[in-house]
Amino acid sequence: MNTIALIILLAIIFDFILNGIADYLNLKMLCNELPAAFHGVYDPDRYRKSQQYLKINTRFGWVTGTFNVIVILIFWFGRGFPLLDEWVRSFNYGPIITGLIYMGILILVKSLLSLPFSIYATFVIEERFGFNQTTWSTFLLDMIKGVSLAILLGTPLLAGVLAFFEYAGSNAWWYCWIAVTVYMLGVQFIAPTWIMPLFNKFTPLEDGELKSAILSYAESINFPIANVYVMDGSRRSRKSNAFFTGFGRHRRIVLYDTLIKQHTVGELLAVLAHEMGHYKKKHILQSMVLGILQMGMMLYLLSIFISYQGLFDAFYMPQKSVYAGLIFFGMLYSPLGFFIGIFMQMLSRRNETEADRFSVETTRDPNSMAEALKKLSVHNLSNLLPHPLYVFLNYSHPPVLKRIREIQG
Ligand SMILES: [Zn+2]
Repeated sequence: MNTIALIILLAIIFDFILNGIADYLNLKMLCNELPAAFHGVYDPDRYRKSQQYLKINTRFGWVTGTFNVIVILIFWFGRGFPLLDEWVRSFNYGPIITGLIYMGILILVKSLLSLPFSIYATFVIEERFGFNQTTWSTFLLDMIKGVSLAILLGTPLLAGVLAFFEYAGSNAWWYCWIAVTVYMLGVQFIAPTWIMPLFNKFTPLEDGELKSAILSYAESINFPIANVYVMDGSRRSRKSNAFFTGFGRHRRIVLYDTLIKQHTVGELLAVLAHEMGHYKKKHILQSMVLGILQMGMMLYLLSIFISYQGLFDAFYMPQKSVYAGLIFFGMLYSPLGFFIGIFMQMLSRRNETEADRFSVETTRDPNSMAEALKKLSVHNLSNLLPHPLYVFLNYSHPPVLKRIREIQG
């Protein structure tokens, strides 16, 4: 086993063990005492249910995680990568087509293997806790649409990346960087109008108290919005949310229908003010810039490693190729990706606190924000007392009690 193989193997094991420990600690934190802030909001039955939900999801995560690690190790050490390569090369296509077939097969197999888990999560776990609203036909249609979209959008991108690294020599990484960035921005630009409506229905919010409250608030903070949309989130789940998409004049605020049903106008306004805070405080721009920088760094490192013999030896590949190099590099990158991920989560938690503060300062209504957060946690059966290590590794938002404390502080 060479150094590269050892690094990747250790990274897989380390990740598995660390997540296991975090899960274990997280479950040990469960206690029957309801935090004081939630008295009167969580009834004891529902609180118990939220703990059950956490336990079941954690156990399910263990099963999925263990399965994934076993599959990848069997495929790797069973010499699956070179076997597949030999077969795909026998079709005698050029390097780009061969690469697309090779990667396509791996992605397809990976998706098929995760399908039973996704069915179980939706139709057994979410169902049991009363969240699931997805019918089998919605589930199937989602899958068909998702796969078609992945093929339609992913193939040109992948073909482009393969072609740059195949033919553009040492310039490949930054050509690629520019092309991928433009492509991603383009997709994000068309997403609200072309892609998202494939999966959900967006209807403009009806005139009324809520809409005029939102528009006049937006004006008060000098944040022009053309329209507010309601999304039929209830088509898939009873869980609720709100978000912004697109930029410029395509920017839209989206409220889940499930959210509107549960909250007062004041609470909805507080939630939207939080979302607008992300824009006003330039969090959206920040994460976009960081994403682009990370992409550049990744492509640069890729350009160094893609011709490195050791990377291919690690996976028993007799022949070098751009496509296999891309996959292997992805695995080699994961330790670095792990630390970057943790940093991004920390940044995100900080931004969430900042957006909460923005909401409270501009609406001058800390109670509505706090109430909204409480209701959301109860409704979505959130874990009120996650372990700090678990938060550090996985949370993009601070735990709800911390948010409430900051808001009311
Ligand atoms: Zn937020």
